[in-house]
Amino acid sequence: MSLITELQTLLGTAHVLFEGDLSAYEEDWRKRSRGRALCVVTPANTQEVAEVVKLCAAHQTSIVPQGGNTGLVVGSIPDESGQQVLLSLKRMRAIQAIDTENLSITVQAGCVLQEVQEAASQAGLLFPLSLGSQGSCTIGGNLSTNAGGTQVLRYGNTRDLCLGLEVVSASGEIYAGLSGLRKDNTGYDLKNLFIGAEGTLGIITAATLKLYPKPQSTWTALVAVHALDNCVSLLSHCHQALGAQLTGFEVMNQFSLSLVSKHLPQLACPFPNSPWCVLLELSDSESQAHASEQLENLLSSAMELGLASNAIIADSLQKAKHLWHIRESITMAQAMEGLNIKNDISLPVSRITEFVRITDQALQDLVPGVQLVNFGHLGDGNLHYNVQSPPNTPAHVFLDSFEDQINTLVYQKVKLYGGSISAEHGIGSLKVQTLPDYKDPVALKLMRQIKVSLDPLNTMNPNRVILLH
Ligand SMILES: Cc1cc2nc3c(=O)[nH]c(=O)nc-3n(C[C@H](O)[C@H](O)[C@H](O)COP(=O)(O)OP(=O)(O)OC[C@H]3O[C@@H](n4cnc5c(N)ncnc54)[C@H](O)[C@@H]3O)c2cc1C
Repeated sequence: MSLITELQTLLGTAHVLFEGDLSAYEEDWRKRSRGRALCVVTPANTQEVAEVVKLCAAHQTSIVPQGGNTGLVVGSIPDESGQQVLLSLKRMRAIQAIDTENLSITVQAGCVLQEVQEAASQAGLLFPLSLGSQGSCTIGGNLSTNAGGTQVLRYGNTRDLCLGLEVVSASGEIYAGLSGLRKDNTGYDLKNLFIGAEGTLGIITAATLKLYPKPQSTWTALVAVHALDNCVSLLSHCHQALGAQLTGFEVMNQFSLSLVSKHLPQLACPFPNSPWCVLLELSDSESQAHASEQLENLLSSAMELGLASNAIIADSLQKAKHLWHIRESITMAQAMEGLNIKNDISLPVSRITEFVRITDQALQDLVPGVQLVNFGHLGDGNLHYNVQSPPNTPAHVFLDSFEDQINTLVYQKVKLYGGSISAEHGIGSLKVQTLPDYKDPVALKLMRQIKVSLDPLNTMNPNRVILLH
């Protein structure tokens, strides 16, 4: 019997798609890459995922797991062979349990991030992971990419928010690790192997995640800043003044905000002439009044020190959401503008200013007039350092001529300044060829050994993250 027929018998014909328009599964979010699947399967539960994996292993057919397909490194779509099974977790989106005393929530992997945030909020608690794609990305995808987002400064990456996992291994066994324990030193921490593995070691089917008490009040301010080194000094100033109350610190250069104003005029930046803007968030467990006074004091001292030139504090939840919406719309505005070269990099915060100065100049020397869409989570040393064509140069001409050279230039500078070529988006297939040039060779060897040991047939999202040959 063919694999498709066996899958249909297992899941029902409605849940094995191989005809019609499959672009939602086969095309990546940026619409830069398109693959072709043998079929798309949508299992309903963990047992069905396990059976699909066993069938595929028996047919030596590889599987690409997919959540919301919002990943930015081409890891969640099939390759062009037409031979891979695309396994979508979209039918597995139950909130399984909330334990308010243990401060934890257990959800299926296909749960959309925003649904998890809302479920936590309805229980009077906070699930702090927060990304621009939260309306469509899933917990399984967040774990598999170890997503970052805007709250890492205070709560950590997705990895730091995970207590336990349920995973279907490459052989189709179910690893039942849905523990809500905060302490468990009984050997290797297996969940941390699957987190950030981008589906190359197994399929995450459910997770137990940490919740936090909701802050009593949250205040957001948009601050106009003259230069990037002032943004870095403002960050230190905020750390000193606010400690753990500082929950967000995002930077945006003028050009990135101008793209938002151009494509989404309702989200125009209030400081259009400022070279940089910082969006900062303070969360407080005391009263509203206490937090607002702290923020006002902080901003006036920043102005006195010359770190900020102007600022507005959102005096309502709606205004705060509006400011965050501006920040979160940069990725969409870039997509509306056309293609550009994306670099999701991290550096020690102390070296960011010098890195940007030297790299900006080197890029201008290479392609005069090149435009930099530079924004990111400065609090975590993470920049989305994206490079757009000079005005009047079509994006595809620019990319065809310069993409490889620009990537090499940026990554070499990242290496020089002690950074990482992927801060939060992962490796996928976009950077799989590049990784060996920037990663420690022993780390690569150990990664290969782990991959071969957990997935000996190389059927779990092959040729993503690590190449075996
Ligand atoms: C507008 C926008 C803003 C974004 N902002 C951020 C940001 O601030 N921070 C950030 O880190 N990322 C960001 N991203 C990238 C993306 O949203 C994240 O990487 C997200 O975690 C991907 O989740 P997903 O469900 O869409 O996963 P997918 O794109 O479907 O998959 C991503 C990877 O995980 C694997 N995978 C998916 N589900 C599973 C599973 N259940 N088991 C095993 N492997 C699986 C896939 O095979 C693939 O390799 C943004 C993307 C967009 C479009």
